[in-house]
Amino acid sequence: MRPNDPCPCGSRLPYIECCGPVHAGAPAGTALALMRSRYSAFALGLGEHLLRTWHPDTRPDGVELDDDILWRRLQIVDTARGGEADD
Ligand SMILES: [Zn+2]
Repeated sequence: MRPNDPCPCGSRLPYIECCGPVHAGAPAGTALALMRSRYSAFALGLGEHLLRTWHPDTRPDGVELDDDILWRRLQIVDTARGGEADD
């Protein structure tokens, strides 16, 4: 994926302005941004990001992503709160 390609999360932003920085280690500003980055990580095969953002209580020792799975889209039905000022 090139940095200016559309982000796999479906935000319609270039990857470099959406999930790319979160994948590179920047904090996700909101729960929604974190969810989008995790979806994109599945789509791009970024297992390390999945592990890094997995709750430690349930995080496995590793993840094996299946290259045969095609992640088509993320559908966000609704959100409640989850802004940058929310806990
Ligand atoms: Zn994204």
